This record gives sequence, C-alpha cells and structure tokens, in this order.
Amino acid sequence: MKKAVFPGSFDPLTLGHTDIIDRALPLFDEIILAIGTNSSKKYMFTLEDRLHFLKETYKNEPKVKVETYKGLTVDFCKSQDAGFILRGLRNGQDLEFEKAIGQTNYKMSGIESVFLISSSGKAHISSTVVRDVMHHGGNYEFMVPDVVRKK
Ligand code: ADP
Repeated sequence: MKKAVFPGSFDPLTLGHTDIIDRALPLFDEIILAIGTNSSKKYMFTLEDRLHFLKETYKNEPKVKVETYKGLTVDFCKSQDAGFILRGLRNGQDLEFEKAIGQTNYKMSGIESVFLISSSGKAHISSTVVRDVMHHGGNYEFMVPDVVRKK
C-alpha cells in the first residue's frame, strides 16, 4: 500500500494545498494530511479550525486521513507506516529549502519525498499571503476553499 504524509501548518488551508493534494490522489492509496504542531509557533487559526478545514474539505474522499503530530515528520511517517512525504513546490526558493529537508529526511529514514509543482496560476498562493490579506480586510476568497471562506 502506497501511503504518503502531506505535512504542513495549513494556517489556513488554501487552494495551493488542495491543488497538490487533489493531483497526488491518483499516485497513492492513502494520503495523510498531517498538521505539525509546534508550541513555539504562533498561528492565526486554532488547531481545531485547521483540523476542521481539512476534514470538511475531504470528508467525501476515502483515501484522505487527517492527523496531527509533534516532533520529526519522519518519525510520524514511521508511526503511520507511510513510505512517502508529499510536498508542493511553488518556485526556486521552495526547491532549495525542500531539497535540504528532503535529503536530510532520506538520510535519516529512507523515506522518499515526492514533489509536485504548483498548477499554472496557483504558485502565488500561500497561507502567509492569505493571512496578510485577511488581516488587512482584503479579498482572499479566490485563494481558499469554501470551508475557509465560510469561517
Ligand atoms: P509548512 O509550514 O510546512 O511550509 P504549509 O502549510 O505552508 O506548511 O505548506 C504545506 C505544503 O504545501 C508545503 O509543501 C508547501 O510548499 C505546499 N504549498 C503551499 N502552497 C502551495 C502552492 N500554492 N502550490 C504548491 N504547493 C504549495
């Protein structure tokens, strides 16, 4: 069984994330959307809200599971018996960052990272931009799924 973990903060879930998840579904038997919790990091949305965004968006997709985890992503993958880490690449900056993490994770665990490049027109979307636009009262609706729009 091909199982992948898609780790992230999802603060909030965006159409950039769903683009990667939806396109990865045919590649895996199961995708675990995993919210990494880091007590020293400040989030805009509560863990409960972020879980709700993921669960509600994928409630009709049997291949998707939603979990939270603390600690190293590779340790979480092992606990779930997942052989792959899924990540999205928006630009060269993401590539450089993800390359170092992917190589380190592989050295530590033998777990492969699988990268999908953003679909055309989705690379500008990030949770940081969405939070900034929300904070200043701008229109963010075209960057997020329904469940985040309703919040
Ligand atoms: P993290 O804090 O771990 O980067 P995020 O929730 O910001 O968590 O992102 C999770 C994953 O989703 C990362 O691999 C990130 O590159 C990817 N991602 C986010 N936005 C996009 C996008 N617009 N296109 C492709 N991948 C994206």
